[in-house]
Amino acid sequence: MREKAELALDHGKPVRRTMLPYARHSIGESDVRAVVRVLRSNWITTGPKVDEFERAFAKYVGAKYAVSFSSGTSALHGAVFAAGLCIGDEAITSPMTFCATANCIVYQGATPVFADVSPDTLNIDAANVAKRLTQRSKAILAVDYAGHPADLEVLLELARRHELVLIEDACHALGAEYKGKRVGGISDMTVFSFHPAKHITTGEGGMVTTDNAGFAERLRIFRNHGIDRDARRRAVEGQWYYEMIDLGYNYRLTDIGCALGLSQLRRIGPNLSRRRKIAADYAAAFRHQRGIVLPSVRRSARPSWHLYPIRLDSAELSVRRDEVFRALRAEGIGVNVHYIPVHLHPYYRERFGYRGGEYPIAEDAYRHLITLPMFHGMTDRDVDDVIRAVIKVVDHYAA
Ligand SMILES: *Cc1c(COP(=O)(O)O)cnc(C)c1O
Repeated sequence: MREKAELALDHGKPVRRTMLPYARHSIGESDVRAVVRVLRSNWITTGPKVDEFERAFAKYVGAKYAVSFSSGTSALHGAVFAAGLCIGDEAITSPMTFCATANCIVYQGATPVFADVSPDTLNIDAANVAKRLTQRSKAILAVDYAGHPADLEVLLELARRHELVLIEDACHALGAEYKGKRVGGISDMTVFSFHPAKHITTGEGGMVTTDNAGFAERLRIFRNHGIDRDARRRAVEGQWYYEMIDLGYNYRLTDIGCALGLSQLRRIGPNLSRRRKIAADYAAAFRHQRGIVLPSVRRSARPSWHLYPIRLDSAELSVRRDEVFRALRAEGIGVNVHYIPVHLHPYYRERFGYRGGEYPIAEDAYRHLITLPMFHGMTDRDVDDVIRAVIKVVDHYAA
């Protein structure tokens, strides 16, 4: 038995003095130069950097088309629109996600139907999805939780059999691989976010990738008010006439953001390697640690590690998650919780009548989850601090 160190929570010495966040963006000098070049140019929005970023992104993920958006959320909205979801329709999604995944279904006047997750990956369980299908089902919205791809082959097969569109929320999963193929070129549409917490950032921004020309066209129209050609194409062609053919929004990503995205995308390789190294270091350090369960990785998957969520084993600990959470924060480790299952939020309870208990696997996981810091800019020292703090706190509360 190791001697129990005094917790910072109990006025002991914290593992570190400054709070290590759970996620953080990195901006280099080349990013700054790329943005400044655009600021000095004639196009700060709807200009050439948009096409350039979209082409580079499509090539990286292995898709024919990439359509940029002002955020991951507006990209999700675009994908749901392009899939043709409207009032009276249903789309099946995961409760173990950020609320935007389900909100976009509601934006279109459709009904989100949750399906419980698999206990290992916390990704939507295809067998549970199959049970929730009705005549009104139009799409499946799978999430690659923490950067581990969902069960895409099984979900695609299910979608084909029932004529549904498979939309993949890969906001966690840029660079992740499923059966040797990069996420972004597998589902009917795949959605990414460039929020600063994600793998690459444009400040705010998002992207939808697809191999389907029809979807790509609907996405482009939707992000530009429902207008059939954008300002730059009109300027190039010397045309004034345009038609608004559907109800869209202004969901465009600026050239400023796209220049930043292009520059960031150049470092995705080393960025992913760093995240995978951190995940391997955590796994090695905690392999024999009682009281915690590490995220599992299926043979079909090569995760991109947006998050590193561990689960507490309540049988081995004398306190609950919230106490462990507070103790880690006091040690200077900026842990987080991903996620409160979407159906438990007041809006979803009130509007759709959820009470808790409907999705036992997601709800049980939620009560035990803690997200450890994971970002490519973490130093070896940061990683070591996390490891020492987790061992210190978990050993302290070992039952
Ligand atoms: C970040 C995120 C979003 C939303 O992306 P924004 O760019 O913040 O709008 C949607 N879904 C998931 C799973 C996310 O992690």
